[in-house]
Amino acid sequence: MIEWITEDLPAPSAGEVLIEHSAIGLNFIDTYHRTGLYPVPLPSGLGLEAAGTITAAGEGVDTLKVGDRVAYMAPGKDGLGAYSTQRIMPAAGLFKLPDTIPSDIAAAALLKAATVEGLVERCAKVQAGDWVLVHAAAGGVGLIMVQWLSAIGANIIATASTDAKLDLAKQAGAQHTILSSADDLPKQVRDFTGGTGVSTVFDGVGKDTFAVSLDCLAPRGLLVSFGNASGPVEGVNLSILADKGSVFVTRPTLGHYFATPEDAALGIARVWEMIGSGKVKITIGASYPLTEAANAHRDLVARKTTGSTILLP
Ligand code: NDP
Repeated sequence: MIEWITEDLPAPSAGEVLIEHSAIGLNFIDTYHRTGLYPVPLPSGLGLEAAGTITAAGEGVDTLKVGDRVAYMAPGKDGLGAYSTQRIMPAAGLFKLPDTIPSDIAAAALLKAATVEGLVERCAKVQAGDWVLVHAAAGGVGLIMVQWLSAIGANIIATASTDAKLDLAKQAGAQHTILSSADDLPKQVRDFTGGTGVSTVFDGVGKDTFAVSLDCLAPRGLLVSFGNASGPVEGVNLSILADKGSVFVTRPTLGHYFATPEDAALGIARVWEMIGSGKVKITIGASYPLTEAANAHRDLVARKTTGSTILLP
């Protein structure tokens, strides 16, 4: 159950700031925290990402000041609590927003685009001319990923559950699209790639698509299985990787690609560059009052959303 509560906040301690939130990013992982797929001690706040303005700063905060616009993404259960009007956060984990990035765009984009940066550039290391398959391509991560891959010159095949979603993926830069319900999805992928299959599959759907994704890979290709929208992938017999062409599978999480301040700074700089240059445009498909977070969750798991969704305090 998601419940709205009122709480008085103390003044920020040393190294902390108080942020007045302007917009909060809705992410599928929030539903895993709510359902317990990713267990958290209860009661708990929810939400990993938001943008806003610093309204007070504790002692020793010298990199940021009152009035600065900032955003954060806090992968991991210790970072829960973005579904709030104001919040105290350690200054060290905040990213100052460039003037070119509005706060609602930052909340809609930061975690998802950082995920894409880590997966495309540092995990799969996609190169111009590579063939890639992106599942759930009209979702929050999906639409950013298709544009990012298009910008670096990859050949993109996109899947989604409806024709309207496939149109969005096409507009974002996918060369070919396939309904995710198609029985012959791997055959269509092979036809598009001259019989070879793709070098990388990006799969945030999980359980329902795992087997199909393996069938779409070229020999020695890579399946990046990065989410569980349909449920977690379990009980894999490793021999299947040999059978499918000595393929590779990774199950990455954002935290490991943004683990050090240096990695985070590089990744975020790349995110602002891609968005600031217009190569990646952020689609805010829907915004909900923060008090209606439960409805936003319902729509997200019912596959009714496209692009990024934000909650407004
Ligand atoms: P999306 O906006 O992509 O929403 C999820 C989409 O998944 C739906 O729109 C739907 O698209 C598809 N889907 C397929 N099967 C189901 C199902 N049974 N129930 C619900 N949706 C389904 O969400 P996000 O952009 O927030 O996240 C996308 C994925 O990326 C998630 O799995 C998330 O956990 C993962 N992620 C992983 C990170 C990491 O560090 N590993 C970081 C950030 C996100 P369609 O209707 O087209 O099938």
